[in-house]
Amino acid sequence: MKTKLIQIDGSAGEGGGQILRTSLALSLVTGKPFRIAGIRAGRQKPGLMRQHLTAVNAAVEIGGAAVDGAEIGSQELIFNPASVKPGEYRFAVGTAGSATLVLQTILPALITGSESSILNLEGGTHNPFAPPFDFLEKTFLPVLARMGAKVNAELLRPGFFSAGGGQMQIRITPCAQLQPIEMLERGDFVSRAVRVIVAGLSDGIAGRQIEGLKRALGWTEDVYFIERQKDLYGPGNVVITELSTSTHTEVFSAFGERGLRSEQVVDRLVKKVREHLTHGAPVGEYLADQILIPLALAGSGKFRTGQLSRHTLTNMDVIREFLGTEFEIQAESPLVNCVSIR
Ligand code: AMP
Repeated sequence: MKTKLIQIDGSAGEGGGQILRTSLALSLVTGKPFRIAGIRAGRQKPGLMRQHLTAVNAAVEIGGAAVDGAEIGSQELIFNPASVKPGEYRFAVGTAGSATLVLQTILPALITGSESSILNLEGGTHNPFAPPFDFLEKTFLPVLARMGAKVNAELLRPGFFSAGGGQMQIRITPCAQLQPIEMLERGDFVSRAVRVIVAGLSDGIAGRQIEGLKRALGWTEDVYFIERQKDLYGPGNVVITELSTSTHTEVFSAFGERGLRSEQVVDRLVKKVREHLTHGAPVGEYLADQILIPLALAGSGKFRTGQLSRHTLTNMDVIREFLGTEFEIQAESPLVNCVSIR
């Protein structure tokens, strides 16, 4: 083995799949091998699930890596990459597991390379506890573009939990060195949109959700939309808000699920939107943990966000292990934090 294995504790902090994905991503970027134990120890079903195994296999293929422990249920993995090969790839989760999280794993290595790549990804595109395609397209990728990496995402077919079957194509034009950015001010609101997406479910569900959202948010009538996807893509239901300011777009979402009343789905979304509007900072909870890798690779940057999630704090710890990044957190008020990367 070329260098000492970095030892990662998968049970630390948040204890979920992100510890594995960040380790894979940064191992590919740096060429540093690692061993992770206690994979997803904090989850009800610990170890590698289909989605995580697909991410591991994708990282193996892209990085020409040697791997030990890459099987369903495995709680320990050793990963030793050779070199990153840009190109055209297809990775299929094979279940409704999130394809956007597979992307999260391999994107950092491909945006910092020298040649373009095309990724054809199959699986879930709209999953609870994962970035929905809309967040990827409207919130995360525009931030990467400002840092110099052009990534175009096209949704060919949505894949909802638990049906799966989604398809997306990602075209990546990398940049040799990501540029630092600062996201400190929210700016003025320029547009709002509220979308209720349904596939294979009754129109009554979408109608009740739209009415509930109108009552709770009180925004002008023209911002609410119902999108009916083909029944065969379902069953699926997600409610999404897009808040665009002069500086940035934040996408928040909540998912319908069996046994959950439409009103509860609405309440979940409204809670997230209100929290974001109340703290007044530009960066939302989910972007805060996902922006850390690109900023750490850029070598510096600064952003204001609300309260820091356990995902964000845990991701900082894993990034520090691979890159030695220093994160400075300044609590500006009980609701707002300013994070600086050095
Ligand atoms: P884990 O729970 O460790 O598998 O990590 C989940 C990842 O999905 C984190 O990077 C979260 O920021 C991201 N995520 C979860 N829910 C959402 C959401 N509604 N919108 C955007 N990203 C999300």
